[in-house]
Amino acid sequence: MSRKDNAVYCNCCGRRICGEEQEIRASFLTIRKEWGYFSDRKDGQIHSMDICEACYDMLVESFTIPPEKEEITEYL
Ligand SMILES: [Zn+2]
Repeated sequence: MSRKDNAVYCNCCGRRICGEEQEIRASFLTIRKEWGYFSDRKDGQIHSMDICEACYDMLVESFTIPPEKEEITEYL
């Protein structure tokens, strides 16, 4: 995760995704992974990253099996 003055940067393309504007914060992907004991050389590490929507689309297109999708029926 690369953060300067609370701005969020895409770890994939380096583009600045957003600053303080909360309303844009729902339009990118944040991944935070705590690697457990049985992972390969990442024991006890926490990896986190932010991916912008354009990079997310490219990433998903490279998948063999697309992600599962469902409609949000109720916004909280
Ligand atoms: Zn990106």
